[in-house]
Amino acid sequence: MSTEPATLISRFLLTGQCAIVTGGGSGIGRSAALLLAEARARVAVLDKSESSARATADEIVRRGGEAMAQAVDVTDEAGLERVFAAVAERFGRLDVLVNNAGIAIRGPALDLPVADWNTVLAVNLTGMFACARIAARHMKSFGHGGAIVNTASIMGLSGGLYPNIAYQTSKGGVVNMTRALALEWAGELIRVNAVAPTYVRTALTAGLLTNPEITATIAAATPLGRLAEPEEIAAAILFLASPAASMITGVILPVDGGYLAR
Ligand code: NAD
Repeated sequence: MSTEPATLISRFLLTGQCAIVTGGGSGIGRSAALLLAEARARVAVLDKSESSARATADEIVRRGGEAMAQAVDVTDEAGLERVFAAVAERFGRLDVLVNNAGIAIRGPALDLPVADWNTVLAVNLTGMFACARIAARHMKSFGHGGAIVNTASIMGLSGGLYPNIAYQTSKGGVVNMTRALALEWAGELIRVNAVAPTYVRTALTAGLLTNPEITATIAAATPLGRLAEPEEIAAAILFLASPAASMITGVILPVDGGYLAR
C-alpha cells in the first residue's frame, strides 16, 4: 500500500463504490446517505417512507451526486430481496450497507405489551439481520468484499437512563450480531462494524427530548456535556465504511461524547 499523501487521504472516500442506506429518509440515515454521496459513493436510499427516501435521494442529486430511492420495510424479507437486487442491477456492484433503520417503543418492562416488544425486535434486530445477510450474499457474488455498518446504540452497551427495554435488548443484540457476522464473513473480506451513538435529536427521540429536564440529565451524564448531531454519527459511519478502516472489523465504535467511558 502506498503512503503517498494524496493516495492515503483518498482512502477516506468511496470513489466508484455503491452504498445502501436503510432508514435513509430521516435523521442519522439521511445524514449518512448525504455524507456517503459527498464521499463519492452512488447511494441507494431505502426507507419504509417512500417520500422521505425520495427526498434524500433528490437532495443527493441536487448536490451533484448519484442516488436512487426505494420504498421497503425491513421486516419484509421478500421486499428486501427485490430492492437489493434492483440496486445491484442498477449500480452493478454493492460495496457498503449502512444498516440503520430502527424504531423505539418506550415503556417500563412490567407494562410493555408483548406485541410492542415483538415489533421493536422485528425491525431493529431481525430486520438488520435480514439486510446484512442479503447484502453479504450480493457482496459475495460480486467477489469484491464489502463493509457493513450497523447502527447500534449506547443502549446496546449499557442499561440506559430511561426504561426502554425492547430497544435496549434489540441494540444489545445488534452489538453481538456485529461481532459474530464479522467473524463469519471475514473470509469473504466483508467487514462488519457498528456505531453506538448517544442521544441524537431526530424523529426517533423527538418525544423524549422535548423535556428539558431529560436533555439536561443526558448532557450531565456525558463528559462532553451535550447530545450528538446526526452529522457526527454519519462521520463515524463513513470512516468505518471506507477503505481507511480496511483493518477494522467486529468493532463497536461509541459516538457518545464519553458517555460509556465513565
Ligand atoms: P429517525 O426516526 O429519524 O429515522 C429512522 C428512519 O428509519 C425513518 O426514516 C423511518 O421511516 C425508517 N424506518 C423505521 N422503521 C422502518 C422499517 N421497518 N423499514 C424501513 N425503514 C424504517 O431515527 P434515527 O434517530 O435517525 O435512527 C436511526 C438509527 O439510529 C436507529 O437504528 C436508531 O435506533 C439509532 N440510534 C438513534 C439514536 C438517537 O438518539 N436518535 C441513538 C442511538 C441509535
